[in-house]
This record gives sequence, C-alpha cells and structure tokens, in this order.
Amino acid sequence: MAKRDYYEVLGVDKKASADDIKRAYRRLAIKYHPDKNPGDKEAEAKFKECAEAYEVLSDPEKRKRYDQLGHEGLRGAGVHDYSHMNVHDISDIFGDIFGDMFGDMFGSSRRSSRRSNGSSRARQVSRGYDLETTVELTLEEVAQGVEKTIEFTRQDTCPDCSGSGVAQGRSPSRCTLCGGSGQVQRAGLGGFFQMVSTCPQCHGTGQIITDPCRKCGGKGLIPKKRTLNVKIPAGVHEGQAIRVAGEGEPGQNNGPRGDLYCYVRIKAHPFFMRDGSNLVVTVPLSFTQLALGTTIDVPTLEGTRKLRIPPGTQHGTILRIRGQGLPDIRTGRKGDLLVKTAVEIPKRLTPQQEALLREYAKTEELEVNSESKSFFERIKQHFGNK
Ligand SMILES: [Zn+2]
Ligand SMILES: [Zn+2]
Repeated sequence: MAKRDYYEVLGVDKKASADDIKRAYRRLAIKYHPDKNPGDKEAEAKFKECAEAYEVLSDPEKRKRYDQLGHEGLRGAGVHDYSHMNVHDISDIFGDIFGDMFGDMFGSSRRSSRRSNGSSRARQVSRGYDLETTVELTLEEVAQGVEKTIEFTRQDTCPDCSGSGVAQGRSPSRCTLCGGSGQVQRAGLGGFFQMVSTCPQCHGTGQIITDPCRKCGGKGLIPKKRTLNVKIPAGVHEGQAIRVAGEGEPGQNNGPRGDLYCYVRIKAHPFFMRDGSNLVVTVPLSFTQLALGTTIDVPTLEGTRKLRIPPGTQHGTILRIRGQGLPDIRTGRKGDLLVKTAVEIPKRLTPQQEALLREYAKTEELEVNSESKSFFERIKQHFGNK
C-alpha cells in the first residue's frame, strides 16, 4: 500500500510549526486510539499511520529529509514500522505520553497499578493483546446459527517457571537502569512532558532476569494450542467478527486477557447468492415454459419446493417466496427467496421442433433465417456475395 503524505495524515500545512504538529497529533491520537475504538481495525490503522507521521514530523532531522526527498528520504533513517506493531508497543516508544493522554480519559482500565510486596513500587498491569481467527460457514449454517469448534494458538503461562521467567532455583536481580525503583525520569517525546515513567528495562518491576527459564526464554509464556467452541448467531454476514471475551493473549502482570475475534467467512453456495437477508437463485426455463406457464421445483436451503410460473413470464422476472431467506441477525426476521427466471434457448433442434418453430414464426410475421443450409453452402454464399 502506498504511504500517504505525512502532512496530509496529520492534517497540517507544510509550514506547520512543531507546536501545530504536536497539537494535531494529540487530537488524532485521541480520536483513533484503540482503547476508544475497540475492535475497529480502521481506527487502529489510522492510529498507527498518525504515530509514524508524528515520529517523522516531530523530529527536525527526519522532517528535513522527508521534505527534501519524501518517503524515499527516510530509508535507513530508523523510522519505526508501526503497521506491524502492537498498540501497546507504540505506547512504549512514545514513552508515557499515552499514559498521560489516555489515563484520564479512559479511567484506570489501561494503566491501573498495584502495590507489590508491600513496597511502594507500582507495577504496570495491562490487558493482553487481542487475537484474530477466521471461521468458515456454509449458508445453511448461517441460516440456522451454529456452534463451531475453533483451534488457535495463544500464549500461556510457562509450566516450568510458573510465569516468572526465572530459571528454577535462581532469582531475579535488581534492575540496573532504575536501581530497583521501577521508574525513571525522562522528557516526553518532542518535549511534550517532563515526567516520571515506568522503567523500560524492567517494565516497572524493578527486577531483571539474569538466569532466564530455558523453556520460555525468560518470557514466562509459551505458545499453546487452544480449542474452543464458539456460538455463531444465525444471520451473520461475511467479514463480521464474533468477539469472545478473555480468550486473547494474557495481560502483563496478571492483567486480564485480551479478546478473541472470530471473523466470519461464508463459503460460496452452488445455487444461492446472498442479498442481505434474501437469497437469490436463478432458474433456467425454456421459452415454452415461460410462455405457457408451468410449475417447477426450486431449491431452498431446506430442500425443494414447488413454484408456479405464470403464463407469459418474462426472462429476468423475479418471483418471491416469502420467508425462505436468511434470518436477520438482530430481529431474527427471515428474508425471502428470490427466484429469477432465465430463458434457455435450445442450441440444437430436432427436425420436428424446427418445423414447428417455423410454423410459429410465420404467425408472428417476423423475419427469421431461412432453412438451415450446410456449412459449405453458407460459406459459398458468403463469399459469392462479395
Ligand atoms: Zn518459563
Ligand atoms: Zn528498571
């Protein structure tokens, strides 16, 4: 995907001052922050795009390179690739600006702290990352609603170290960066704030692991397969996500798990197309069936059913069978089955059929091709006329 112009992303002028850029970024970061737009992928993408634009435009050196050479000029300039980054990691890069910006707005849900071991040290408790998976349904399953067994991989507490990350028989040592306090003094990015923030080395625990657990490498977590039954309501649409609360990645310092989002994919059906809560099926009919009328069997999701085609039905007519569509996900009200007629012209006629049709054409007084000649005769005629 082509990168957008950074000034455009932040909605500022090329001549914007550092202050203007800061203000614009703050406004957009608050607007698109994932805590404020849970599950909104578009907002998350915008949030990341803004972070990248701000990183460049708030840094005089990077901004100069960008002004002169555009995105090309930043190659090798060490701009973070935010698109693949987790929102919480972005918060880490921007120091505690986010903590300060959003802490007040969204309460303590994101950055609540707790006392540990009776000391005054505050540990950062945060919710785990959300996970995504896909679940594939048939139209029949959409009609009924279904419980699907899904399997996915998520992080789980390491059984060897019980999540501490420390090798058995060893203990963590005091953090060298903060001296064990869990906090460091630093200036916010671009001189935003001067503040005390969580130590980036020990993440506020005041301790670092010098002898990591072998099984998990010190992370305290290992990937583990999980199987889950997920109820999918009737009437779901392609691309819709079913949220399963608390089935995502574990949070930091016993914070709650994130959520699992199951995105719905609907398999193509051999007969039916979906149009909202209606189903559409096209049935081929002969000219005589349409002209004279008939009763046909049409497929429904539950089997077949009879449908009367009135005499004189045109090609492309839509006949409605009420209540044979899909249920609305909210109201449960069923849509209709729309049967679309399509005239099928015979490719070959028996001599008898051709004779009868010619008789019929005479009654219409319409011009038709004269009786079929052999291929070679027609070629001769074609070139002979030139
Ligand atoms: Zn471990
Ligand atoms: Zn530390």
